[in-house]
Amino acid sequence: PRRPIVAGNWKMNLNHFEAILLVQKLAAGLNEKQLTEVEVVVLPPFTDLRSVQTAIEGDKLQLGYGAQDISQHVKGAYTGEISGSMLSKLGVSYVLAGHSERREYHDEDDTLVNAKVKAAFANEITPILCVGEGLVTREEGTHVQHCTNQVLAGLTGLKPEQVKQVVVAYEPVWAIGTGKTATPDDAQEVCKALRAAISEKYGAEIGEAVRIQYGGSVKAANIASIMAQPDVDGVLVGGASLEAEEFTSIVRFKE
Ligand code: 13P
Repeated sequence: PRRPIVAGNWKMNLNHFEAILLVQKLAAGLNEKQLTEVEVVVLPPFTDLRSVQTAIEGDKLQLGYGAQDISQHVKGAYTGEISGSMLSKLGVSYVLAGHSERREYHDEDDTLVNAKVKAAFANEITPILCVGEGLVTREEGTHVQHCTNQVLAGLTGLKPEQVKQVVVAYEPVWAIGTGKTATPDDAQEVCKALRAAISEKYGAEIGEAVRIQYGGSVKAANIASIMAQPDVDGVLVGGASLEAEEFTSIVRFKE
């Protein structure tokens, strides 16, 4: 049985004061049982990480946290970049790799995303490998192949035990921030195919262990039907993760 993972991608929102407030509200809104059943992770901007770490460690909160991006480089003259070792020093346990907004606005291709996945593992950080098709690909009907290619490319060169730990996030680009959620069947179709592709390449034990999230306009009102899908093991939430009440309702999808 795969433990559900609900992650909140704050994107470029909330300064470090606002971040502390939100973390405290999340902690107040979730009990130990809920946080044991579901793994909850927040992904704040880099500038909030130290404050989020202090809030979570200081109050011994069972919340995970991570970053939204990682440099493929180890260190050096890369102005503006943040390295994996800097992130691991801040106790970060997850990092997004290949979010569609990075792919689109920062020209990240599969080779770079793969390098970032490897940089995460080199620093004992679990990558959340994001994949997803745009509207044109969806309308052409080649979305399954598109996403499968992105996943296998992102995993290239990893050891089987690393593949097993990766979290994959399927986020159809047309569903991000648009209010247009994929239907539960759409989400299941792709998540199932991604698992099958991982199983085919790395063996069924690994395929069955990998957790696959859906992302794109997830909210309290649609979470239950998405989580009811057998190959959807969690969600990656954007806009709705900025509101404590909405996000905690998403975490409590079983209730
Ligand atoms: P929204 O939930 O705002 O659609 O964003 C999804 C997303 O991109 C999460 O990474």
